[in-house]
Amino acid sequence: MTTAEDGTVYLVGSGPGDPGLLTVKARDLLERADVVLHDRLPGPEILDLIPDGNAEDVGKRAHSDKRTSQAEINERLVAYANAGKSVVRLKGGDPFVFGRGGEEAEYLAEHGVTFEVVPGVTSPVAAPGVAGIPVTHRDHASSVTFVTGHEDPTKPESSVDWAALAEAGGTIVVLMGVTRLPDYTAALRDAGMDPETPVALVERGTRPNQRVATGTLETIVAARDEVGIEPPAVTVIGGVAGVREELEAFLR
Ligand code: SAH
Repeated sequence: MTTAEDGTVYLVGSGPGDPGLLTVKARDLLERADVVLHDRLPGPEILDLIPDGNAEDVGKRAHSDKRTSQAEINERLVAYANAGKSVVRLKGGDPFVFGRGGEEAEYLAEHGVTFEVVPGVTSPVAAPGVAGIPVTHRDHASSVTFVTGHEDPTKPESSVDWAALAEAGGTIVVLMGVTRLPDYTAALRDAGMDPETPVALVERGTRPNQRVATGTLETIVAARDEVGIEPPAVTVIGGVAGVREELEAFLR
């Protein structure tokens, strides 16, 4: 059993949504920590594990739609740890995959706070997986790249080199990439990727309301709109996305 040490911050991944995919260590910490700062992504069943009064939603402020700023989250983590509390910083998936966990860890280190990283099952592997899409496969891809689709409008212009990704081959998994799907699928085609390349969108993978849309680099935008895919979803681009077709009939 994992104990939550006083004055320590735990950067914890909650997995892709299915509470069964929370690690045992994460569950122990949620039940034992003095305070849990969490985002919106971990679903209600997971947040229900936190004892009453210990949870702080930093994905949204009370009575307003504004998110708590990253600076404020950082400061709060340090303040609680310095006050001798055991603190969990809970994030969807894995804390170090597009979750700003790296920045938080740096801030904690700069401020002399002891912390521990508790990895989580990450959505760019898990969501395709439960939809019958292996992110690598000997016949299709010997590498996989996770990239951001930059849905967050506060972020600067795209720094992803789509042409280089098209050139590299291998599977591409795009996170935060529902809205800009038309932009980056066009960029990949313009860079010479075969328009027939299979593409799949997996929304709320591992959750009961999971939805999938499939197509090709050319047809996936229409498929997205037909199914009505919304965030959170991952986009899988590459031959592996076509494997689902063989497996689908036997997938639970
Ligand atoms: N740290 C998280 C990712 C955070 S970024 C992880 O490791 O999974 C948020 C993005 O994650 C979403 O925009 C979406 O692209 C993806 N995501 C998170 N949970 C998901 C799920 N259950 N199904 C599909 N995509 C998911």
